[in-house]
Amino acid sequence: MQGWLEVYQRRLVVRAIGDVLDTKRRDILQGRTPDISVEGILSAVAAKLTAITSCQLRPVINATGIVIHTNLGRAPLGREVLNNVVAISEGYSNLEYDLAAGARGKRYVHVHQHLKELTNAEDTMVVNNNAAAVFLCLSALAKGKEVIVSRGELVEIGGSFRVPDIMAQSGGILREVGTTNKTRLTDYEDALTSDTALILKVHKSNFKVSGFTQEVDIEQLSTLAHSRGVGVMYDLGSGCLIDLKPLGVHTEPSVPEIIKTDVDIVAFSGDKLLGGPQSGIIVGKTSYVERIRRHPLSRALRIDKLTLAALETTLIQYLGTYETITQDIPVLRMLFQDIGQIRSRARKIASRVKNIDAEVEVAGEVSQVGGGALPGVELPTYVVRIRPSSMTVEQLQRRLHEATPPVVGRIKDGHLLLDARTINDSEVKDVINALKKKEEGGRRCFPGRSWPPLRPNAVDLR
Ligand SMILES: *Cc1c(COP(=O)(O)O)cnc(C)c1O
Repeated sequence: MQGWLEVYQRRLVVRAIGDVLDTKRRDILQGRTPDISVEGILSAVAAKLTAITSCQLRPVINATGIVIHTNLGRAPLGREVLNNVVAISEGYSNLEYDLAAGARGKRYVHVHQHLKELTNAEDTMVVNNNAAAVFLCLSALAKGKEVIVSRGELVEIGGSFRVPDIMAQSGGILREVGTTNKTRLTDYEDALTSDTALILKVHKSNFKVSGFTQEVDIEQLSTLAHSRGVGVMYDLGSGCLIDLKPLGVHTEPSVPEIIKTDVDIVAFSGDKLLGGPQSGIIVGKTSYVERIRRHPLSRALRIDKLTLAALETTLIQYLGTYETITQDIPVLRMLFQDIGQIRSRARKIASRVKNIDAEVEVAGEVSQVGGGALPGVELPTYVVRIRPSSMTVEQLQRRLHEATPPVVGRIKDGHLLLDARTINDSEVKDVINALKKKEEGGRRCFPGRSWPPLRPNAVDLR
């Protein structure tokens, strides 16, 4: 064990040994017969040290078919985007330095032109995420004044982000109008007073209301608000910069379409349908954006340089053609993926795991977009459908979660489903290995560092 002390802090090694011995003692007291050979103890301590020094946050394979999966980190980023993140963050950058003027600059300028180009908005601003964007906009524009919101749009986005609570925190006074299923233009009209600061529309990102329903579109709201001298804000949730109609999605207007309606402020996420890093994008009229930029909270919610580097590269990719955009941006690539490609990937996995102790077949299914985007839109897909013979489906799921890298699928009707839409071609081998229970070496935080031999057979026991 001496060699370990050259790399790990002594107290870490001592703790690992202590933990292992405690476990062994407990096992003995409970009548079990643990391996107490020198090799057995060494290998257990080595495993413990590996576990302690491995990253908890690690890559997983998304086999759920949900393209924008908030629990799995939302939008994966493409290689070009990541290369720029590395380039910007491994040294210094002109983050807040204007090279032409030789003076202090603003961090927002780097994405400003691209956002203007892509949305046709007059002015732009970016913050840490969309929840922060909405909070900042309301704080800057509506503090102590009324904000009119339809009762059908008082939504919870997830976690503790609920429109009424965010409104209360921002200092805006919520003025609810209409009902859960129906809100008319006259409802907004009747609520407008000299205390009104804003009409707020919130996109129904993660649910659908159907049946006897009515809502007022943003164009009508803009006309009404401007005739009475108040502002209109749209929390678009999942902002999409391109037309999704080729995907068969007719319900999601793109940000430039929204801007055309003369709305004053639009806020949306960078890591939902846009497919970039976690960020909150605010676009709209200069008089409003200027007030938002000047608010003290904007400093507290500011975007970080790694994010900015990733966002700028993603936005530049949007300046390409429809074909290049849907190839370059992983979220869009997965959404627009050819069904034949998905099927052949599913077949490849299924054919390589014929010999495992389970019934394995390829079946047609549907994937969801996820991430509070396009609720109710179902994309046809293919899954590998597995019913294990010698263990429960839950046990198989747990085994896949413990694999390196972990594979996350879903259980349906007693089968484990692995959706080939969200599995990358480069991940197919890992999925097969996980199903066959062949482990690759675990990933560590510092891949460049040389680690001491941790396997007992590599340690000189003499
Ligand atoms: C997702 C969402 C948010 C929050 O965006 P984050 O980027 O997750 O902070 C706010 N409003 C709506 C309508 C959303 O869909």
